[in-house]
Amino acid sequence: MVISRPIQGKHRKIKDRINIILFAIFLITPFIRFGGKPLVLLDIPARKFYIFGLVIWPQELYFLHIILLFLGFSLFFWTALAGRLWCGYACPQTLFTEAYNWIARKVTKDRFGKPSMKKSDWAVVYVVWFFMSVFFSLVFLSYFKPYEETIKQIINLEFFVPTTFIPENWVIFTVLSTGAAFFNMAYFRENLCRLVCPYGRFQVALLDRFSPIVTYDVKRGEPRKKPNEKVGQHKGDCIDCKLCVLVCPTGIDIRDGLQVGCLHCGLCVDACTNVMSKFNKETLISYKTMEQIDNPNSKIKYFRPRTVIYGTILTVLLFVFSYLLITRVPIYTSVLRDKAISNVYIPNQGWRNGYEVHIGNLSFNPLDAEIEVQSNYKFNILTESKEINIKPEGYEKVRIILEYPEVEGKPQGYSVPITFVIKDKNNPKHVKVVKSFFTFPVS
Ligand code: SF4
Ligand code: SF4
Repeated sequence: MVISRPIQGKHRKIKDRINIILFAIFLITPFIRFGGKPLVLLDIPARKFYIFGLVIWPQELYFLHIILLFLGFSLFFWTALAGRLWCGYACPQTLFTEAYNWIARKVTKDRFGKPSMKKSDWAVVYVVWFFMSVFFSLVFLSYFKPYEETIKQIINLEFFVPTTFIPENWVIFTVLSTGAAFFNMAYFRENLCRLVCPYGRFQVALLDRFSPIVTYDVKRGEPRKKPNEKVGQHKGDCIDCKLCVLVCPTGIDIRDGLQVGCLHCGLCVDACTNVMSKFNKETLISYKTMEQIDNPNSKIKYFRPRTVIYGTILTVLLFVFSYLLITRVPIYTSVLRDKAISNVYIPNQGWRNGYEVHIGNLSFNPLDAEIEVQSNYKFNILTESKEINIKPEGYEKVRIILEYPEVEGKPQGYSVPITFVIKDKNNPKHVKVVKSFFTFPVS
């Protein structure tokens, strides 16, 4: 496990501010309620996703798909525009590494990672890290299960499925998540970036010669100081102090060139800036584009085909999402044919078909729904009530029997089209239309 040395500098300050904001968002978001409803909750068992005041049902998963597409293309856009910002500043792996290191320094009185660190310090660090992992796992769980329920179950010691010794799903989730977090932070860490994370692999495809990356100035730096040379005897500016390597969270040497393990966090920039400032020289490591390395006077080009294409896709996704949101009718409907009442003929009366109309209220307000049947043919609706009240986020089904009177004369063919119209009585704009058909027996 790499334990990077702390360093002061411009990028460290930026990272600290971003870390605090993102951590606050992570820790607070699942506990925010508006009108009793969660701000963000991915309730998988109930198949409902609460996202910023919107409750998304499985029938509306396209909202979630658009959000995920938007996040994916944002990653592409920002990488092309400004390099691996995500890895260096916003990735959870980066954030948690910072948090675990910060707490380890606090509990060991800054001995963390230093030769003066004792075995007893490690024991304390591991215990603290374990409880941090439990805490973060419970926060993470709150994105998928209302925290009120979890607290209640913990207080009542309800860890097992009633009358069995099978752990509840949330207990299994928390144990696995705690184990993964602890293993990751106490052992695996930088290997996740270097060996596992797929994003690091396809960075080459996302970056072009105009994307800012952290680079070492080979022309100025080399030949670097050799071990047997004194500072000043070497031709290049690099004094081979290795501070850039010691501060690197993944333990790589940026002087070896662009690598998958480089998060582009800029901490080695801070390190070299500090070292070179002692010699009144500019840093050897900086954010530069490949173009700037070849032509030092060139400026960063922000408008390029790939940034424009990604930007356009993001804008289109934003418009599509806004349009779908504005025109959203918070009613789910489906109509199933009732097989028990299908093609029934009652002499001297007519033909009957049965239907099950399923209505879901996708809003946080009660729904007064009215069902109407439209057709070019005249039907009698043999149902007690065509109106139904559905509670917020509720779901109901209504049985409807349609009768085609014999006096109208049987139409040609074996079926005629009909349309079910489901309206919100309190909001005439909220209308859902479902096509179906009425069948006659084959004579
Ligand atoms: S911090 Fe700068 S001077 Fe020191 S080894 Fe790295 S590149 Fe060379
Ligand atoms: S090489 Fe520099 S920019 Fe890359 S991860 Fe290490 S410290 Fe961060």
